[in-house]
Amino acid sequence: MSCGQPHATPCTEVIASLSAYIDGEVGASEYRLIAIHITECPPCEREEQAQRTVKALVVRATTVSRAPGSLHERIRVQLAPDRPNAEQ
Ligand SMILES: [Zn+2]
Repeated sequence: MSCGQPHATPCTEVIASLSAYIDGEVGASEYRLIAIHITECPPCEREEQAQRTVKALVVRATTVSRAPGSLHERIRVQLAPDRPNAEQ
C-alpha cells in the first residue's frame, strides 16, 4: 500500500504501527511521524480510519453485550405488580 509519493516514514512502518498509534501506545516522536505521514498519504489515512472504525465497533459490541442485563432489569421494574400506578 502506497500513494507513490516518497515519505520520511515508509508506509509499511506506518501500517505496522497503526494499531499502537490509534491506541496511543507509541512514543511522542513516533506518533508525530505517523500523524504527519497520514496527512500526506491517502492510502494510509484510509487504513487508519478503517482501523479506528473497527476498534470503535469492537468497543460498541462489547458495550452492547452488557445491555441485555440492564434491559432485563428495566423490563422487570416496569412489569412489577406492586408499581403504585400499575393497572391490573
Ligand atoms: Zn503511507
